Amino acid sequence: MTVVRYIPTDPFAPRLTDAPGERYVLAIDIGGTGMRVAVVDRGGWSLARARIPTQPQWGLIDATARLEALMREVMFEVGEVEIGAIGISTAGPVDPTTGIYRHPPNLPGWHGLSMIPALAASFGLPVVLGHDATLAALAETRFGTHRGARDLVYLTLSTGIGAGIVAGGRPVTGSTGGAGEAGHLIVQPGGPSCGAGCRGCLEGVASGSAIARAASEAPAGGLETSLTADADAAAVFAAAEVGDAVAREIVGAAIEGIATGLAGLLALLDPEAIVVGGGLVAGLDSWWDALLDRTREIALPRYGDGVPVERTTLGDDASLLGASLIAFEAVGG
Ligand SMILES: [Zn+2]
Repeated sequence: MTVVRYIPTDPFAPRLTDAPGERYVLAIDIGGTGMRVAVVDRGGWSLARARIPTQPQWGLIDATARLEALMREVMFEVGEVEIGAIGISTAGPVDPTTGIYRHPPNLPGWHGLSMIPALAASFGLPVVLGHDATLAALAETRFGTHRGARDLVYLTLSTGIGAGIVAGGRPVTGSTGGAGEAGHLIVQPGGPSCGAGCRGCLEGVASGSAIARAASEAPAGGLETSLTADADAAAVFAAAEVGDAVAREIVGAAIEGIATGLAGLLALLDPEAIVVGGGLVAGLDSWWDALLDRTREIALPRYGDGVPVERTTLGDDASLLGASLIAFEAVGG
């Protein structure tokens, strides 16, 4: 188990954690691939953390039991510290109040179920839950480059695409917890479909799975390419990097879709920043300036001097940190 500490944005800021009797929370992040647990303080510093595979196909009850065992292991590791609450960040769709999932594509079989009651009973602690992208946006306003921002969007570019929105200092959840589905904004009418079936949405055009699908169809076009039918998004980015024309075309189409989506989000929400995270960001590195240029071209004229679009500085931990924030909020900040 590793102890990970974050460098505060302002190293001279008073550390609440120096106060005696400081409380901690258990922060949990649940994705389609892995479940993570960390004991986190108010400053976003983690005393201990651990990760196990989610294995969603074994069902929510099984996942809850394995998660509970991991939580106890991590608590044992840190010894005698006071844990105030449990905060959960999860892939959705999910009702943030009840924790009940609604046909979550990456957690198949979890529909209609919640792990909140079992965890609350087992630990005797308040359990609060939020959508991972929403909590990542919240964490960016507290720990990221835009600390203190009241209007911010977190866009995650990964196997799927989603967004978390903070507006006027509050997370935007929508009437049923479904806000932030930026992946289904139409960016190329009539274009490729996402898994949900909308044609030409951002996820259908530019997600990791969309890029991999485009690569699998590419050799049929007759152009010479080093791409194989089973190439994933990382392989497409790598091939484009060394000049593969087909890969460059796929990456170009993804950039066009992402720029269109970003321009729409800027127009709709006027955020201080759109912070971009997720597994595709590393692959986009070489095209980052091109993406910003194209976004500026598409966006409203007032963005002519540049668009407030940045890559996250919180790595994979943004949603985990967001889970700690709602947990502290549950026990009175
Ligand atoms: Zn869609």
